[in-house]
Amino acid sequence: MGSHLKFYQAGDIIFNQGEASDCAFVIDQGKVDIFIENETLDTLVAGDLFGEMGVLDQQPRSTSARAATDLALLEVKTNQITERLKSSDPIVKALVRVLLKRFRSLLSSDNTFSTDVLFSEVESVIEDEGLSKIKMESELRSAIANQQIQTVYQPINDIETGNIAGFEALSRWEHPEKGMISPFEFITLAEETDLIVDVGRLVFERACHVLSQLPEHFFININVSPKQLDNDLFLNHVVQLMKSKGVSPARLKLEITETMVVDYQRANQWIQKCKGLGFPICADDFGTGHSGMQQLVALDFDVLKVDQVFIRNMYENKKYAIILQTIARIAADLGMKLVAEGVEENAQYQSLKLLGFDYGQGYFFGRPMDELDVFALIKKEVEK
Ligand code: C2E
Ligand code: CA
Ligand code: CA
Repeated sequence: MGSHLKFYQAGDIIFNQGEASDCAFVIDQGKVDIFIENETLDTLVAGDLFGEMGVLDQQPRSTSARAATDLALLEVKTNQITERLKSSDPIVKALVRVLLKRFRSLLSSDNTFSTDVLFSEVESVIEDEGLSKIKMESELRSAIANQQIQTVYQPINDIETGNIAGFEALSRWEHPEKGMISPFEFITLAEETDLIVDVGRLVFERACHVLSQLPEHFFININVSPKQLDNDLFLNHVVQLMKSKGVSPARLKLEITETMVVDYQRANQWIQKCKGLGFPICADDFGTGHSGMQQLVALDFDVLKVDQVFIRNMYENKKYAIILQTIARIAADLGMKLVAEGVEENAQYQSLKLLGFDYGQGYFFGRPMDELDVFALIKKEVEK
């Protein structure tokens, strides 16, 4: 815990002018003096970022940095910044470059510019919001390395028999200070960088392990992101892993959300590739995007998972019930399995049964649980 922090004592040098720039820092606790020779240019405090310049333009450090007090620093890796810059708006990229150039030329000449002005200029580029995001990303990075990202499994039940048929694997981040962080928050952050591939690797590896311990007829659904599907190395790694554990890819269903499908051609490539490897494909959150029906024509899904909003509102608003009925008929006619999400009450379960849904998922059947609870539950289920 907290092992991502680096500690210094007052007086320690953090880096010297002229050294290679391999990372930046965010001050977690304490103060830092930025100086050139004997002249202190600025004193930075908790929350400030420094050392970012050389990382941005791959130049040696233009100043030195020393711990002004005892100090805790959070390291920001070069690729955290360069990945961001590469994917940023070209105008922002240009602005950063111009400001860097100006800043460097001012630092190197012996002119009389006030350093206050210089630093406020740089600060205006890196805004507070971006900074807290970068900090969060550093923490996520070490959370992944330190196995603080957990995988939980929510039952998916056979509607006909009511028995558990499989599980959906969901990620959880137990932050040492902030507590449980919702996947809506950290998955989005991870998706903006390559971190999602690392999160995905954890989930895949754990799901393979769980599958290898469960009877053959149980499956696990996994949420995948574009960066994972574009990464052939990653997919091949998963297939190798499954082979070595003797688990058939047919038991690992990949969930793709409608929002991921911006470009049918690209989505179709993913789907064909994954199906070629033996993974069934499930359309997640079906019905919430704006191209649902067209998607069914263009893309070859094996499973449709209807979004919770339809189940939640099926009694309040008759239109939702009618749409559910229509989706059920379409799925049957197109030969796709149908899953309902967010089933919370017995009444909803009974209605879905009448509509001919194949599977249901939601608090009515069970909440997400850890691996050990999955094994205990399945043991009971198999014995009954
Ligand atoms: P999702 O794929 O739509 O997952 C279903 C979400 O609904 C889960 O939220 C689940 O806990 C919640 N849920 C399940 N049953 C019920 C119910 O009866 N009522 C209500 N109100 N909610 C229910 P969670 O775990 O917070 O996940 C949020 C989203 O984050 C997921 O939505 C998924 O899109 C994404 N996500 C989670 N783990 C991963 C991951 O490992 N990789 C990727 N790429 N995305 C993930
Ligand atoms: Ca899902
Ligand atoms: Ca969903």
